[in-house]
Amino acid sequence: MTVTADQQAPAPKHRRLRTEIPGPASRALQERRAATVAAGVSSVLPVYVTSASGGLLTDADGNTLIDFGSGIAVTNVGHSAPAVVDRVRKQACWFTHTCFMVTPYEGYVEVCEALGELTPGTHEKRSVLFNSGAEAVENAVKIARAATGRQAVVVFDHAYHGRTNLTMALTAKSVPYKHGFGPFAPEVYRVPGSYPFRDAPGLTGEQTAAAALERIEKQIGGDQVAAVVIEPVQGEGGFIEPAPGFLPALSRWCAEHGAVFVADEVQTGFCRTGDWFASSHEDVVPDLIATAKGIAGGLPLAAVTGRAELLDAVPAGGLGGTYGGNPVACAAALGSIETMRTENLAASARRIGEAALPRLRALAGETGVIGDVRGRGAMLAAEFVRPGTTEPDAAVTARVAKACHALGVVVLTCGTYGNVVRLLPPLSLSGELLDEGLSVLEHAVRQEMSR
Ligand SMILES: *Cc1c(COP(=O)(O)O)cnc(C)c1O
Repeated sequence: MTVTADQQAPAPKHRRLRTEIPGPASRALQERRAATVAAGVSSVLPVYVTSASGGLLTDADGNTLIDFGSGIAVTNVGHSAPAVVDRVRKQACWFTHTCFMVTPYEGYVEVCEALGELTPGTHEKRSVLFNSGAEAVENAVKIARAATGRQAVVVFDHAYHGRTNLTMALTAKSVPYKHGFGPFAPEVYRVPGSYPFRDAPGLTGEQTAAAALERIEKQIGGDQVAAVVIEPVQGEGGFIEPAPGFLPALSRWCAEHGAVFVADEVQTGFCRTGDWFASSHEDVVPDLIATAKGIAGGLPLAAVTGRAELLDAVPAGGLGGTYGGNPVACAAALGSIETMRTENLAASARRIGEAALPRLRALAGETGVIGDVRGRGAMLAAEFVRPGTTEPDAAVTARVAKACHALGVVVLTCGTYGNVVRLLPPLSLSGELLDEGLSVLEHAVRQEMSR
């Protein structure tokens, strides 16, 4: 099938501002929206997108913005990656839905084969597909409970695992994710994690893990724990990389106590951190791994992949859903995975990190408002503090993000204290656009200093 000219959206190559951001057309849409869309759904930057390509978004006013958000770590292969578009278009023509639980199709099986190959570990694996990250995490817990016959689930400070009832209970932060939405699911226990910038100086990953594990053994009991659920690099909580040794110690403890080690790689997965999965950086082999976001180039798809004996412990009919593993989403995933393989996007992610980290560190040294720069691959963060302290500065963070937006660079913030600017560019972003976006961020921070 060929793309005819009228189907192809114009693909600008550069950032280009024609109006203020958001412009009049976006503001008009925002007014329409207010009269009909629930207020509980908010938008970081209300420019209404009409097309997107690679690392650029074009809005209703004809402005073209550099995308350092990738729709929250989703379009890792870039917007409208050719292999994704091509496979989606074909699959949509063939059929859009049968429900895998009614009459199955090959795409689902192919995605599970790819997940088995790409996730850490050479053991026998199985996968099951869903629609969202929260659904994947929630099902990982169901599987762990069914397989172990235990109930307790251990999660960490600063964790984010989603917005469904169970995953709200797993998530740490109250406002805006949990506030007013209780009661929450029982048998969820929160323990301290590893946050090197805010933990006592010199604490090793092993020591930090020992403190968490002691809490687990004393307050829950090692033989009661069904699952330990953890993001190998925490996402919404602030792009927090645990101290080296922390994850391996937790993973070893799980193996010794018959608990299931669940890696929530919804945000870190699919080459984002410079490897297929962030667990691999410390050779951690999760028993179950939850994936979503970057898996399918923007179509809704999620998965739980892990040890065959765990997944197969759930009897037939115990897992599934009407849309889980939708054929068009599976086609997108196959296109996305093919692109990551052929373009070696893990290496691209590492290059992005190597180019950006020194500049962010120099900016931190120059301005004093950035207390910590961290990240791996193309999952990068600057944590804003009052100079000379570790006191979070959410106000400066918000103003810096806003200044970037006004200049046509989409950056996101995150963190328990709302004081982290995070960068999640598409892994295929050109060096030139990366450079330009970083220059805008530098300008925004310097402007903040001269206020
Ligand atoms: C985004 C995210 C989720 C939830 O995914 P949804 O697709 O929004 O349900 C879960 N875990 C992590 C680590 C995430 O970043």
